[in-house]
Amino acid sequence: MYASVTFVLLPSNMSIIVKNVCKQYGSQWALDDVSFEIPKGQIVGFLGPNGAGKSTMMKIITSFIPATKGVVEVNGFDVTTKSMEARRIIGYLPEHNPLYLEMYVREYLTFMAGIYKMDQVKSRVENMIERVGLGIEAHKKIGTLSKGYRQRVGLAQALIHDPQVLILDEPTSGLDPNQLIEIRSLIQDMGKEKTVMFSTHIMQEVEAICSRAIIINKGKLITDQSTSELKKWGSGSIVLVEVGDEISSGFWKSIDGVIAVKMLAPKQWEITSDGLRDIRRDISDKLSKAGLVLLAMSTKENRLEDIFKDLTQKK
Ligand code: ADP
Ligand code: MG
Repeated sequence: MYASVTFVLLPSNMSIIVKNVCKQYGSQWALDDVSFEIPKGQIVGFLGPNGAGKSTMMKIITSFIPATKGVVEVNGFDVTTKSMEARRIIGYLPEHNPLYLEMYVREYLTFMAGIYKMDQVKSRVENMIERVGLGIEAHKKIGTLSKGYRQRVGLAQALIHDPQVLILDEPTSGLDPNQLIEIRSLIQDMGKEKTVMFSTHIMQEVEAICSRAIIINKGKLITDQSTSELKKWGSGSIVLVEVGDEISSGFWKSIDGVIAVKMLAPKQWEITSDGLRDIRRDISDKLSKAGLVLLAMSTKENRLEDIFKDLTQKK
Protein backbone atom coordinates (compact mmCIF):
# COMPACT_ATOMS: atom_id res chain seq x y z
CA MET A 1 0.00 0.00 0.00
CA TYR A 2 1.27 3.42 -0.89
CA ALA A 3 -0.08 6.49 0.77
CA SER A 4 -1.26 8.95 -1.80
CA VAL A 5 0.81 12.09 -1.83
CA THR A 6 -0.47 15.39 -3.13
CA PHE A 7 1.97 18.11 -4.05
CA VAL A 8 0.72 21.58 -3.52
CA LEU A 9 2.63 24.42 -5.13
CA LEU A 10 2.56 27.21 -2.61
CA PRO A 11 2.62 30.65 -4.14
CA SER A 12 6.00 32.25 -3.45
CA ASN A 13 6.10 35.16 -1.09
CA MET A 14 8.89 36.61 -3.21
CA SER A 15 8.10 39.36 -5.65
CA ILE A 16 11.53 39.82 -7.20
CA ILE A 17 14.06 37.01 -7.41
CA VAL A 18 17.48 37.79 -8.87
CA LYS A 19 19.77 34.78 -9.18
CA ASN A 20 23.43 35.01 -10.12
CA VAL A 21 22.91 37.80 -12.62
CA CYS A 22 25.88 38.91 -14.71
CA LYS A 23 25.94 41.53 -17.45
CA GLN A 24 28.85 42.00 -19.78
CA TYR A 25 29.40 45.10 -21.92
CA GLY A 26 32.37 44.40 -24.16
CA SER A 27 35.14 43.39 -21.79
CA GLN A 28 33.48 45.03 -18.78
CA TRP A 29 31.30 43.15 -16.30
CA ALA A 30 28.69 45.75 -15.35
CA LEU A 31 27.07 43.14 -13.06
CA ASP A 32 29.02 40.31 -11.54
CA ASP A 33 27.04 37.47 -9.98
CA VAL A 34 24.36 39.51 -8.19
CA SER A 35 21.63 37.71 -6.25
CA PHE A 36 18.85 38.96 -3.97
CA GLU A 37 15.16 38.47 -3.26
CA ILE A 38 12.51 41.03 -2.42
CA PRO A 39 9.28 39.88 -0.74
CA LYS A 40 5.90 41.16 -1.82
CA GLY A 41 4.99 44.57 -0.49
CA GLN A 42 8.49 45.64 0.60
CA ILE A 43 10.14 48.96 -0.29
CA VAL A 44 13.84 48.47 -0.95
CA GLY A 45 16.52 51.04 -1.64
CA PHE A 46 19.02 49.99 -4.30
CA LEU A 47 22.10 51.94 -3.49
CA GLY A 48 25.42 52.47 -5.17
CA PRO A 49 27.72 55.16 -6.52
CA ASN A 50 27.49 56.24 -10.16
CA GLY A 51 28.49 53.44 -12.48
CA ALA A 52 27.79 50.74 -9.88
CA GLY A 53 25.35 48.90 -12.16
CA LYS A 54 22.02 50.05 -10.71
CA SER A 55 20.39 51.07 -13.99
CA THR A 56 21.72 47.96 -15.71
CA MET A 57 20.11 45.76 -13.01
CA MET A 58 16.82 47.61 -13.30
CA LYS A 59 16.76 47.34 -17.10
CA ILE A 60 17.26 43.59 -16.73
CA ILE A 61 14.49 43.24 -14.13
CA THR A 62 12.10 45.19 -16.37
CA SER A 63 13.19 43.02 -19.34
CA PHE A 64 14.48 45.94 -21.40
CA ILE A 65 17.87 44.27 -21.78
CA PRO A 66 18.87 40.63 -21.30
CA ALA A 67 21.29 39.42 -18.63
CA THR A 68 24.44 37.74 -19.92
CA LYS A 69 23.97 35.05 -17.27
CA GLY A 70 21.53 34.39 -14.45
CA VAL A 71 17.79 34.40 -13.89
CA VAL A 72 15.29 37.06 -12.86
CA GLU A 73 11.71 36.33 -11.86
CA VAL A 74 9.05 38.89 -11.06
CA ASN A 75 5.98 37.53 -9.29
CA GLY A 76 6.82 34.13 -10.69
CA PHE A 77 7.39 35.24 -14.30
CA ASP A 78 10.82 34.72 -15.77
CA VAL A 79 11.60 38.11 -17.35
CA THR A 80 13.34 36.46 -20.31
CA THR A 81 10.89 33.72 -21.24
CA LYS A 82 7.73 35.44 -19.96
CA SER A 83 8.63 39.04 -20.68
CA MET A 84 5.16 40.15 -21.79
CA GLU A 85 3.55 38.81 -18.63
CA ALA A 86 6.30 40.30 -16.48
CA ARG A 87 6.01 43.73 -18.07
CA ARG A 88 2.27 43.84 -17.42
CA ILE A 89 2.82 43.63 -13.69
CA ILE A 90 5.84 45.96 -13.56
CA GLY A 91 5.74 49.74 -13.52
CA TYR A 92 9.07 51.28 -14.54
CA LEU A 93 10.39 54.77 -14.21
CA PRO A 94 13.62 54.82 -16.24
CA GLU A 95 16.57 56.93 -15.13
CA HIS A 96 16.31 59.52 -17.87
CA ASN A 97 12.53 59.58 -17.81
CA PRO A 98 12.02 59.70 -21.58
CA LEU A 99 8.82 61.69 -21.90
CA TYR A 100 7.28 63.03 -25.06
CA LEU A 101 7.84 66.72 -24.43
CA GLU A 102 5.47 67.88 -27.18
CA MET A 103 2.55 65.93 -25.73
CA TYR A 104 0.07 67.24 -23.20
CA VAL A 105 0.00 65.45 -19.84
CA ARG A 106 -3.45 63.91 -20.36
CA GLU A 107 -2.69 63.03 -23.96
CA TYR A 108 0.50 61.21 -22.94
CA LEU A 109 -1.11 59.27 -20.10
CA THR A 110 -4.03 58.31 -22.35
CA PHE A 111 -1.53 57.08 -24.92
CA MET A 112 0.30 55.01 -22.27
CA ALA A 113 -2.98 53.55 -20.98
CA GLY A 114 -3.72 52.56 -24.59
CA ILE A 115 -0.49 50.57 -24.78
CA TYR A 116 -1.70 48.46 -21.85
CA LYS A 117 -5.18 48.23 -23.37
CA MET A 118 -6.77 49.54 -20.19
CA ASP A 119 -10.53 49.81 -19.76
CA GLN A 120 -12.07 53.10 -18.73
CA VAL A 121 -9.00 55.00 -19.83
CA LYS A 122 -10.43 58.43 -19.09
CA SER A 123 -11.20 57.82 -15.44
CA ARG A 124 -7.95 55.89 -15.01
CA VAL A 125 -5.95 58.86 -16.33
CA GLU A 126 -7.81 61.30 -14.06
CA ASN A 127 -7.20 58.98 -11.10
CA MET A 128 -3.48 58.89 -11.80
CA ILE A 129 -3.33 62.67 -12.20
CA GLU A 130 -4.89 63.05 -8.80
CA ARG A 131 -2.83 60.28 -7.21
CA VAL A 132 0.52 61.87 -8.10
CA GLY A 133 -0.63 65.44 -7.48
CA LEU A 134 -0.49 66.63 -11.09
CA GLY A 135 -3.86 68.37 -11.00
CA ILE A 136 -2.89 72.00 -11.51
CA GLU A 137 -0.35 71.17 -14.25
CA ALA A 138 -2.34 68.48 -16.06
CA HIS A 139 -3.53 70.77 -18.87
CA LYS A 140 0.05 71.67 -19.89
CA LYS A 141 2.53 70.29 -22.38
CA ILE A 142 5.09 68.01 -20.69
CA GLY A 143 7.93 70.13 -22.08
CA THR A 144 6.76 73.17 -20.10
CA LEU A 145 6.75 71.36 -16.74
CA SER A 146 9.40 71.62 -14.01
CA LYS A 147 11.60 68.61 -13.29
CA GLY A 148 9.49 67.74 -10.22
CA TYR A 149 6.28 67.68 -12.23
CA ARG A 150 7.91 65.71 -15.05
CA GLN A 151 8.85 63.09 -12.44
CA ARG A 152 5.21 63.00 -11.39
CA VAL A 153 4.21 62.37 -15.00
CA GLY A 154 6.80 59.57 -15.05
CA LEU A 155 5.36 58.09 -11.88
CA ALA A 156 1.80 58.35 -13.22
CA GLN A 157 2.99 56.56 -16.36
CA ALA A 158 4.63 53.82 -14.26
CA LEU A 159 1.40 53.38 -12.28
CA ILE A 160 -1.14 53.63 -15.09
CA HIS A 161 -1.70 49.87 -15.46
CA ASP A 162 -1.85 49.32 -11.69
CA PRO A 163 1.29 47.17 -11.58
CA GLN A 164 2.12 45.05 -8.52
CA VAL A 165 5.81 45.88 -8.73
CA LEU A 166 7.42 49.29 -9.18
CA ILE A 167 10.98 49.77 -10.37
CA LEU A 168 12.04 53.40 -10.00
CA ASP A 169 15.48 54.40 -11.27
CA GLU A 170 16.73 57.44 -9.32
CA PRO A 171 13.24 58.90 -8.96
CA THR A 172 14.43 61.88 -6.93
CA SER A 173 17.58 62.89 -8.78
CA GLY A 174 17.67 66.53 -9.78
CA LEU A 175 14.75 67.57 -7.61
CA ASP A 176 14.77 70.57 -5.27
CA PRO A 177 14.29 69.91 -1.52
CA ASN A 178 10.51 70.47 -1.57
CA GLN A 179 9.95 68.30 -4.63
CA LEU A 180 12.20 65.69 -3.04
CA ILE A 181 10.05 65.44 0.06
CA GLU A 182 6.86 65.22 -2.02
CA ILE A 183 8.18 62.50 -4.32
CA ARG A 184 9.59 60.55 -1.36
CA SER A 185 6.24 60.57 0.38
CA LEU A 186 4.55 59.47 -2.85
CA ILE A 187 6.92 56.51 -3.06
CA GLN A 188 6.19 55.58 0.55
CA ASP A 189 2.51 55.81 -0.21
CA MET A 190 2.83 53.49 -3.20
CA GLY A 191 4.80 51.05 -1.04
CA LYS A 192 1.69 50.46 1.06
CA GLU A 193 0.25 48.23 -1.63
CA LYS A 194 3.08 47.43 -4.03
CA THR A 195 6.59 46.02 -4.07
CA VAL A 196 8.89 48.96 -4.72
CA MET A 197 12.55 48.93 -5.66
CA PHE A 198 14.10 52.35 -6.13
CA SER A 199 17.68 53.28 -6.87
CA THR A 200 19.63 56.18 -5.49
CA HIS A 201 23.20 57.16 -4.77
CA ILE A 202 22.08 59.06 -1.67
CA MET A 203 22.15 57.13 1.58
CA GLN A 204 19.76 59.40 3.48
CA GLU A 205 17.18 58.67 0.86
CA VAL A 206 17.13 55.03 1.88
CA GLU A 207 16.88 56.02 5.54
CA ALA A 208 14.02 58.37 4.72
CA ILE A 209 11.96 56.00 2.60
CA CYS A 210 12.56 52.40 3.54
CA SER A 211 13.93 49.86 5.94
CA ARG A 212 16.14 47.78 3.68
CA ALA A 213 19.15 48.62 1.55
CA ILE A 214 20.81 46.57 -1.15
CA ILE A 215 24.18 48.12 -1.89
CA ILE A 216 26.16 47.44 -5.04
CA ASN A 217 29.49 48.77 -6.22
CA LYS A 218 31.38 48.02 -9.44
CA GLY A 219 28.78 45.43 -10.38
CA LYS A 220 29.08 43.44 -7.16
CA LEU A 221 26.66 43.15 -4.28
CA ILE A 222 28.32 44.68 -1.24
CA THR A 223 25.62 44.21 1.38
CA ASP A 224 21.92 43.54 1.73
CA GLN A 225 20.42 44.32 5.11
CA SER A 226 18.03 46.47 7.07
CA THR A 227 19.00 50.10 7.53
CA SER A 228 18.96 49.65 11.32
CA GLU A 229 21.37 46.69 11.07
CA LEU A 230 23.55 48.69 8.74
CA LYS A 231 23.88 51.42 11.31
CA LYS A 232 25.02 48.93 13.95
CA TRP A 233 27.41 47.41 11.47
CA GLY A 234 29.34 50.68 11.24
CA SER A 235 32.84 50.56 12.61
CA GLY A 236 32.86 51.34 16.30
CA SER A 237 30.58 53.43 18.40
CA ILE A 238 30.97 57.09 19.17
CA VAL A 239 30.52 58.85 22.50
CA LEU A 240 30.39 62.64 22.84
CA VAL A 241 31.68 63.92 26.19
CA GLU A 242 31.76 67.35 27.77
CA VAL A 243 34.03 67.81 30.79
CA GLY A 244 34.43 70.69 33.26
CA ASP A 245 38.17 71.10 32.68
CA GLU A 246 40.63 71.04 29.82
CA ILE A 247 42.51 67.75 29.57
CA SER A 248 44.85 66.15 27.06
CA SER A 249 43.82 63.52 24.52
CA GLY A 250 46.13 60.99 26.19
CA PHE A 251 43.69 60.87 29.11
CA TRP A 252 41.12 58.95 27.01
CA LYS A 253 43.49 56.62 25.26
CA SER A 254 44.09 54.56 28.38
CA ILE A 255 40.44 53.45 28.36
CA ASP A 256 40.08 49.91 27.08
CA GLY A 257 38.64 49.72 23.56
CA VAL A 258 39.20 53.36 22.59
CA ILE A 259 40.43 53.56 19.01
CA ALA A 260 40.21 57.28 18.23
CA VAL A 261 39.89 60.55 20.10
CA LYS A 262 38.97 63.92 18.65
CA MET A 263 38.76 67.28 20.43
CA LEU A 264 35.68 69.13 19.16
CA ALA A 265 36.15 72.18 21.46
CA PRO A 266 38.53 72.75 24.42
CA LYS A 267 36.29 70.75 26.80
CA GLN A 268 34.36 68.65 24.31
CA TRP A 269 35.51 65.30 22.99
CA GLU A 270 34.42 62.71 20.49
CA ILE A 271 35.60 59.28 21.55
CA THR A 272 35.37 56.31 19.21
CA SER A 273 35.59 52.80 20.59
CA ASP A 274 35.80 49.45 18.84
CA GLY A 275 32.10 49.05 19.56
CA LEU A 276 32.51 45.75 21.37
CA ARG A 277 31.19 47.22 24.61
CA ASP A 278 29.67 50.38 25.99
CA ILE A 279 32.53 52.55 27.24
CA ARG A 280 30.34 55.22 28.88
CA ARG A 281 30.73 53.73 32.34
CA ASP A 282 34.53 53.56 31.95
CA ILE A 283 34.56 57.21 30.89
CA SER A 284 32.51 58.29 33.87
CA ASP A 285 34.63 56.18 36.31
CA LYS A 286 37.89 57.50 34.93
CA LEU A 287 36.75 61.12 35.18
CA SER A 288 35.55 60.75 38.75
CA LYS A 289 38.77 58.99 39.82
CA ALA A 290 40.73 61.89 38.37
CA GLY A 291 38.50 64.34 40.23
CA LEU A 292 37.11 65.78 37.00
CA VAL A 293 33.53 66.82 36.41
CA LEU A 294 31.41 65.20 33.70
CA LEU A 295 29.01 67.79 32.30
CA ALA A 296 27.38 65.78 29.51
CA MET A 297 27.70 62.52 27.65
CA SER A 298 25.78 61.08 24.71
CA THR A 299 26.21 58.46 22.03
CA LYS A 300 26.29 59.32 18.38
CA GLU A 301 24.77 56.94 15.86
CA ASN A 302 26.95 55.99 12.97
CA ARG A 303 25.69 57.82 9.96
CA LEU A 304 24.61 55.53 7.16
CA GLU A 305 26.32 57.92 4.78
CA ASP A 306 29.72 57.17 6.38
CA ILE A 307 29.07 53.42 6.45
CA PHE A 308 28.17 53.57 2.76
CA LYS A 309 31.45 55.35 2.01
CA ASP A 310 33.36 52.78 4.04
CA LEU A 311 31.66 49.87 2.33
CA THR A 312 31.99 51.11 -1.23
CA GLN A 313 35.55 52.38 -0.94
CA LYS A 314 36.91 49.21 0.61
CA LYS A 315 35.84 46.89 -2.16
P1 ADP B 1 24.53 53.17 -12.37
O1 ADP B 1 23.11 53.21 -12.81
O2 ADP B 1 24.75 52.50 -11.06
O3 ADP B 1 25.16 54.53 -12.40
P2 ADP B 1 24.96 51.72 -14.86
O4 ADP B 1 24.19 50.48 -14.72
O5 ADP B 1 24.37 52.80 -15.68
O6 ADP B 1 25.36 52.27 -13.42
O7 ADP B 1 26.37 51.38 -15.47
C1 ADP B 1 27.22 50.37 -14.95
C2 ADP B 1 28.47 50.28 -15.79
O8 ADP B 1 28.16 49.76 -17.08
C3 ADP B 1 29.14 51.62 -16.05
O9 ADP B 1 30.52 51.45 -16.02
C4 ADP B 1 28.67 52.00 -17.43
O10 ADP B 1 29.61 52.81 -18.09
C5 ADP B 1 28.54 50.64 -18.12
N1 ADP B 1 27.48 50.65 -19.14
C6 ADP B 1 26.17 50.92 -18.92
N2 ADP B 1 25.47 50.79 -20.07
C7 ADP B 1 26.36 50.47 -21.03
C8 ADP B 1 26.25 50.18 -22.43
N3 ADP B 1 25.08 50.22 -23.08
N4 ADP B 1 27.39 49.87 -23.10
C9 ADP B 1 28.58 49.79 -22.46
N5 ADP B 1 28.75 50.03 -21.14
C10 ADP B 1 27.65 50.37 -20.43
MG1 MG C 1 21.90 54.75 -13.25
